[in-house]
Amino acid sequence: MQLSDYIRDIQDFPKQGILFKDITPLLLSTKATHLAVDELYKKIEGKKIDVVVGIESRGFFFGTLLAQKLTCGFVPVRKPNKLPAETTSQIYALEYGEDKLEIHTDAIKKGDKVLIHDDVLATGGTAEAVCKLVEKLGGEVVQCNFLMELSFLSGREKLKNHEVKAVITY
Ligand code: IMP
Repeated sequence: MQLSDYIRDIQDFPKQGILFKDITPLLLSTKATHLAVDELYKKIEGKKIDVVVGIESRGFFFGTLLAQKLTCGFVPVRKPNKLPAETTSQIYALEYGEDKLEIHTDAIKKGDKVLIHDDVLATGGTAEAVCKLVEKLGGEVVQCNFLMELSFLSGREKLKNHEVKAVITY
């Protein structure tokens, strides 16, 4: 079984000219979902992880499954005004304008070894902002871990101070 067979290309979503990699067919298959978690887990190579941080919203699916497999906690990073308790935020640049991500301030303890997970690494701006959030709270980013990497967008360059792993590279 090939995981990439479960990734669907959607042309012109969310905007004209973008080829969107859709993981919903993968989520519909228990076998493919198990395989994806196993492959993501293998990329961690036995490193000690205290907490998995998943990025809204598609980073929540495999982020929580991965945290279960690692027997550690899961922390959601969300768009503004979604988290109920005190938050720490990070602004980051988009193609046009900027956006903001938030994390619960008490979710990461000083010295925590953190795995950051998302479905796709594209330009790297989102994951870079999440690295900054984790570091603001005193966490150590052990790895940025993705199901897919769109290597032609060079996201790794923004994450060059961190270990970056992806299961599928396009
Ligand atoms: P970046 O900040 O440009 O690296 O974009 C990464 C963010 O955009 C992640 O949160 C992804 O979920 C989302 N993203 C970008 N391209 C795709 C795609 O083709 N499929 C699904 N999500 C994508």
